[in-house]
Amino acid sequence: MKTVFTTAALLCSLLILISCGRKSQDEIFMPGNGPYLEEIAENLYYVHDFNNGGNICFLVSKTGVLVVDAGYYPGPTSEVSVLIDKVTSKPVKYIVYTHCHTDHVGGVAGWPETAEIIAHENLPANLKKFVLPGVEEFRDELEKYGEDSLRQKYGDLFREKYSTEIKQPGKLFSEAKIIKLGKYTVELHYPGVCHTTDNILVWFPAQKAVHTGDLIFNGRHPFISKTYQANVINWIETLKKWSEKDIEAVIPGHGEPGGKDLLIEQADYLSLLVMAVEEYVGSENDISQVAAEIHGEYFQDYEYSSYFNSAVELVMLNLAEQAQ
Ligand SMILES: [Zn+2]
Repeated sequence: MKTVFTTAALLCSLLILISCGRKSQDEIFMPGNGPYLEEIAENLYYVHDFNNGGNICFLVSKTGVLVVDAGYYPGPTSEVSVLIDKVTSKPVKYIVYTHCHTDHVGGVAGWPETAEIIAHENLPANLKKFVLPGVEEFRDELEKYGEDSLRQKYGDLFREKYSTEIKQPGKLFSEAKIIKLGKYTVELHYPGVCHTTDNILVWFPAQKAVHTGDLIFNGRHPFISKTYQANVINWIETLKKWSEKDIEAVIPGHGEPGGKDLLIEQADYLSLLVMAVEEYVGSENDISQVAAEIHGEYFQDYEYSSYFNSAVELVMLNLAEQAQ
């Protein structure tokens, strides 16, 4: 009788679990149903299958949690918040923005409000210039056309756009910053302008792991744009410098995590791009023509995207600046 009762109780709780869409302790580490976790180094977790902008990782300590990046939209970000609660009862103390792009900061409303946000000192102005206008545009549209019309226009995205609230960081730094978190330290490093003017790397010394933000795109073209004043020459130098460190785990801004080879591969990609563009300095061809030729010759393994034109344009600019 007792066995029957226990089985019934188990089944019942399983049904409740399924109907609530919640994940069991084991399921949070299993692929198949939304985001799941991997402990890639001691107490450092990477979120797989996030599909909501840039990669997120978080460090758990006895005093609290530090999260790197906030995702694109608040709903999916708050799903990660639920996963964190399954790993620890400690609060999210810090959120670090790796840089200003919306797909890394737009989901911040999905994290607990009490967390302190930390970023590079150039970030607030960039948020104001590049990210907040997008949010304000949606608010204006909402006022003008009303909820029903925007629900139709945006579908599932409506709820996400509606709940998007961009938060400015409460703490800023210029060159480097060390954060104490229980027995761990986390180091934030500004390498100078690479992908954006506010890009940082987040170094976990005890874990020998780094979140590079968008200094690495694994398996896809990096986003390189003059709008964000990228500097590919410094970007290559930075990746080379970091590849000399004793690093075991690399979490890129986009694409799967890996080892130190990700730093080297991205530096090689960028060096090849610079070398290829150099051949066209002073040529009469327009950018899209040059980009198509370079892509055909050197980058066939990557899907061609409009990003590539802007990358070629920017490298041209960097080379011209360097020659001055
Ligand atoms: Zn970016």
